[in-house]
Amino acid sequence: MSRFWSAIVDGLDPYVPGEQPKLPNLIKLNTNENPYPPSPRVLDALRSEAGDALRLYPDPNSDALKQTIAAYHGLESAQVFVGNGSDEVLAHVFMALLKKPAPLLFPNISYSFYPVYCGLYEIDYREVPLRADYRIDPSDYCGPCGGIILPNPNAPTGIALPLSKIETLLSEHPDSVIVIDEAYVDFGADSAIALIKRYPNLLVVQTLSKSRSLAGLRVGFACGHADLITALERVKNSFNSYPLGRLAQKGAIAAFADEDYFQHTRRAIIASREQLCTELQELGFSVLPSTANFIFAAHPKHDASKLAAALRERQIIVRHFRKPRIDQHLRITIGTPQQCEALVGALREICGDD
Ligand SMILES: *Cc1c(COP(=O)(O)O)cnc(C)c1O
Repeated sequence: MSRFWSAIVDGLDPYVPGEQPKLPNLIKLNTNENPYPPSPRVLDALRSEAGDALRLYPDPNSDALKQTIAAYHGLESAQVFVGNGSDEVLAHVFMALLKKPAPLLFPNISYSFYPVYCGLYEIDYREVPLRADYRIDPSDYCGPCGGIILPNPNAPTGIALPLSKIETLLSEHPDSVIVIDEAYVDFGADSAIALIKRYPNLLVVQTLSKSRSLAGLRVGFACGHADLITALERVKNSFNSYPLGRLAQKGAIAAFADEDYFQHTRRAIIASREQLCTELQELGFSVLPSTANFIFAAHPKHDASKLAAALRERQIIVRHFRKPRIDQHLRITIGTPQQCEALVGALREICGDD
């Protein structure tokens, strides 16, 4: 605490992102980055934008990118909002749509940035426990609330909620905004974007960081009824007129133009995930059913934090959360087939004798 700080700063409990170690030769399976490079078309687009044009401010409204995303998902431009990563989009969502007198609801095991935004914007919230099998049950979200936000598939469990259950939430809460954070949807779950036409209270948030290998470019977006998007634009234009640079806008447009590359890489990750699940189960792990680019696994005989430390000694980094109910699990990002093989080899050594 410093006497120069604004009063709110001392009480903040900031989000701690997964480690980004500076060491070379690490097998980095801790922050759900895509193991494949961005599409070559994205890299070409970035190179051609890296010139004199950088003198000039970018389009403050990212109109061409919004049109690209709208066309890709069968929406109007006015139903699309873009931001500097979906974390920034989410920050504006909390401020613009979820700061209400009644508490916001989200799962108690979920993206740990949600309570952080609530702290920043002084939003009242209630965490709803997952069921014993780590699933979200819509019936636990009954009754009045200021809104609901959940990742689908959920993080860090990887478990997806079927669209029919999201529809239950939408129709039971017609006067609240329901936000579905689809950071991992492209790895096997169904997108709720299909429901936007029928539910004006639905906002779907996606990112190019995971399924399009562009975590370093920082592009995320939200889709929903134009009224919801207008609220987001009002907050954004009270915060930063130019959140997306020229490179981000051009690169993101190019990513949506390379559908073959997107399909090819996402299918490769799904196939690696299924194989890794089987191999970990053979080593005695229990693995939650994942539709994400990570798995959430626990071993009945090996402490998770010790496993993470033993993997680290072998230059493999995974994510371990020191949190009740999940402190015996590891969240492991799906890497390339070679990286998955190295992981299984290391775990076989570590867990070998039982
Ligand atoms: C990774 C992630 C995000 C943030 O993604 P960025 O677009 O890189 O900011 C949002 N929500 C969830 C659940 C995530 O896992």
